[in-house]
Amino acid sequence: MKFDPATNIQNLRQFGEFGDVNPSITDSATFTFMEGSSMSGTFQGETEGCFLYSRHWNPSNKYLADAMAAMEGTEAGWVTGSGMAAITCSLLHCCKAGDHIVSSMTTYGGAFAFMKNWLPQMNVEVTFVNINDLDAVKKAMRPNTKVIYTETMTNPMLQISDLPELSKIAHQNGAKLLVDNTFTPMIVSPARLGADIVIYSMTKFVNGKNDCVAGAICSTNETINGMIDLNDGTAMLLGPVLDPFRSSSILKNLHTLHIRMKQHGANAMYLAERFKEVGLAFNYPGMPEHKGYNLLKSMMNEGYGFGGMIAIDLKTVENANRVMELMQKRDVGYLAVSLGYFKTLFSNSGKSTSSEIPEDVQKEMGLSEGLIRFSVGLDNDIEHTWQIIKSCLKETGNI
Ligand SMILES: *Cc1c(COP(=O)(O)O)cnc(C)c1O
Repeated sequence: MKFDPATNIQNLRQFGEFGDVNPSITDSATFTFMEGSSMSGTFQGETEGCFLYSRHWNPSNKYLADAMAAMEGTEAGWVTGSGMAAITCSLLHCCKAGDHIVSSMTTYGGAFAFMKNWLPQMNVEVTFVNINDLDAVKKAMRPNTKVIYTETMTNPMLQISDLPELSKIAHQNGAKLLVDNTFTPMIVSPARLGADIVIYSMTKFVNGKNDCVAGAICSTNETINGMIDLNDGTAMLLGPVLDPFRSSSILKNLHTLHIRMKQHGANAMYLAERFKEVGLAFNYPGMPEHKGYNLLKSMMNEGYGFGGMIAIDLKTVENANRVMELMQKRDVGYLAVSLGYFKTLFSNSGKSTSSEIPEDVQKEMGLSEGLIRFSVGLDNDIEHTWQIIKSCLKETGNI
């Protein structure tokens, strides 16, 4: 049978303790033991199925982590209090002082800032490269390189990473490939293409409700168990645990993710086609003229579309601001950061989610100061939405 993320989630047998169709929420920080010996066994990581303390594992978190692992086709998963926690714990798990990372120059601003400003304090060096330039990636590899870090669809330029090739380069050099798949859940399954650790900000599409911040890590049993090791696990010792109430609500939202991804993708594709018709500079990986189109096609699972992210270039900040303010006034959506929400969100990347990236680097990566990044919502009548966007672009002299 063909690999299908949505079916994998649907086929999970997760029941509550009274046969509840939604697994019971375990509202407990600690857990009792019948015998002292099973408690000490659990401390040594031996007693299968026993819960000890909720920073390590909580049953509600386990249900969600298992569902995320099923979606990715990985052996294991772990859920965190934020996407940044998933990123930082994964990087720190793979690197110690004296090690080196090769990272895409275009990443989420927080990930970039962590690698640029924070890791060097711990004597971990990072080389930033254009991740589409595989020769540059190869050249950047050193004997002490432990990680290649990238995003499947990079933020905010919507470049596509060649995961199979990057995984080859990483593995030939004894390094691991870490992939942030936040923009493309279900569309791409990075672990199936050679990624060693797949990271999510569940704050975005996975949860899709903008009511919480959360993250996930999917990998092998060995990696996840290493990260939650009581003695030296980064996730266990840094402690960015997700609240079990949140895990429970995210799990329910995960079950509609496939329907949402299809609708986000269909709406974004519709807008891309209209942007093209009116001759606007835009960026959407679902259009054949996009540089990463064929690559994305070769990596994607069928039937989930090309994602809900689309960017247009309005050249100047002032111009972008005018259009965004007008679109908000006319109910296209909200002028807000973040993505994967049921309403359309738009923001000027250079001055918001990528503001951690210095202006000269923004220039180098081709990030225009007038770039508006849209996270296209679940609009039922996208044609109507387009008419409004068009009126905003017209009145500001952009088309
Ligand atoms: C938002 C985001 C993050 C950070 O996630 P938080 O949940 O806000 O900590 C990481 N990567 C990408 C691609 C994101 O969009």
